Amino acid sequence: MNLRTVLHRRFRTETGAEFLYVATSAAILGVDPLTSNLVDAFSGPEGADSEPWLAQHDDRVSAESALHDLIDLGVIRPVGEAQAPRAQLPPMPFPLATLVLNVTNKCNLTCTYCYEYGDDRLTAGTGSKGTGKPLMPDDTARDSIDFLLRSCGDRPQVSITFFGGETLLNFPAIRVATEYAEERAKAVKKRVHYSLTTNATLLTDEVVDFLTKHRFGITVSIDGDQQEQDRHRTFKKGVGSFDVIAPQIRHLIATNKERKGRPIGARVTLTHGAAPVAATYRFLTQELGFDEVGFAPVTAGLGREYALGEKGYERLLREFGELAEDYIAAAARGESHGFSNLGDLLRELHQGVNKAHPCGAGLGLLGVSTEGELGLCHRFVESKSHAVGNVTTGIDEGVRTAFLQKAHVDQKTDCTQCFARPLCAGGCYHEAHVRYGDATHANLHYCEWIRGFVDLGLASYGRILTQNPKFFARFETS
Ligand code: SF4
Ligand code: SF4
Repeated sequence: MNLRTVLHRRFRTETGAEFLYVATSAAILGVDPLTSNLVDAFSGPEGADSEPWLAQHDDRVSAESALHDLIDLGVIRPVGEAQAPRAQLPPMPFPLATLVLNVTNKCNLTCTYCYEYGDDRLTAGTGSKGTGKPLMPDDTARDSIDFLLRSCGDRPQVSITFFGGETLLNFPAIRVATEYAEERAKAVKKRVHYSLTTNATLLTDEVVDFLTKHRFGITVSIDGDQQEQDRHRTFKKGVGSFDVIAPQIRHLIATNKERKGRPIGARVTLTHGAAPVAATYRFLTQELGFDEVGFAPVTAGLGREYALGEKGYERLLREFGELAEDYIAAAARGESHGFSNLGDLLRELHQGVNKAHPCGAGLGLLGVSTEGELGLCHRFVESKSHAVGNVTTGIDEGVRTAFLQKAHVDQKTDCTQCFARPLCAGGCYHEAHVRYGDATHANLHYCEWIRGFVDLGLASYGRILTQNPKFFARFETS
């Protein structure tokens, strides 16, 4: 009977250390020369008979031991042996961990590429950007908290994320929801974490005081220095927003540091012609003081002037590689680095994350519209076709389960032979909906980008592991 390796990716460090990323289990294994030879021998499409391979080795005991180790680890299997089926879904109803409250669908900026404002949005808004109420009423904010606390099962801790539009246009609802959540969570003995995304235009002293006092995790949408920020992120009259936000961000970060708050992150939307990633990273961390910076390629249909295009993704990967060098050097010294795309990927690799679904949307996470309608996530609220219930009546479990079954990575035949599957699982539902009109479709337009980025993560992981393995201890605590 022939044996064959399962789906995997091999990678080496510059010092010659070799590793195997096993896509079926998401494990990373160190590989010695004998095992490397074994993987070579059994990786052909038909696999190989073990006897001739064993016969080639003078030290047959060691060869047999290496072979059996890989069989035990599930890296080598009999050709044609069916893989044990993976559970389609965890036990349902799955307890909620995070609720994203879209407290407003209005914005005070008119960023060219915004999925809310531009053609990519899911709602057919009239006047304001959404079809629902522009501001979430206080009662709906309170109902949302009650809904989360009764839908979270035995979880000791839940998260509430505030989103928009520009979230701070409805600061009163944020205050009401937070204070109500504190009170209710105390009564039912649960802890609540708060987070918020903002464009930083409305960070008054009162807002900064409130957010830092309640230890909000804060993400600021900002594209870089003045030139980068003002290129796309403008007020309605076309004036750039940098001069307004820069002093307010500095004040926020200084207050947060004083109060020993949680790290504050910048989220950069990368468009065609954007400044180099490393330069933007340095500006945001060194000049403005952000703790972390995450970069997101713009979500855009083909043909938009700001869309990245194939060459843009190649450039991005190169520039991510340059910034990864800084990360690896910091990790070798045992220091943190704020390149959060790479940090998040390394955490997932180290924890052996093996996703059946690309993200928590519809599973542990739901979005709430200004009117209390539940959507798969914040990007799907007010999209009637993806509604999964309401905060007062609860989750429509039939709709939720049917979606999650269809969205399972095992249903995406295009992903079957992809080594990046444990981390990507087909990619963002919203992006798939925009691109293919089907939220459960695999995002095949960005596979090269995803695989390239996972390769970068694997290479970085291997290098850090050989230089300072203790660095990964930080990913074992949370
Ligand atoms: S969408 Fe592409 S990159 Fe992602 S798992 Fe599927 S085939 Fe792989
Ligand atoms: S569907 Fe996309 S936007 Fe929504 S939570 Fe998942 S990855 Fe994020």
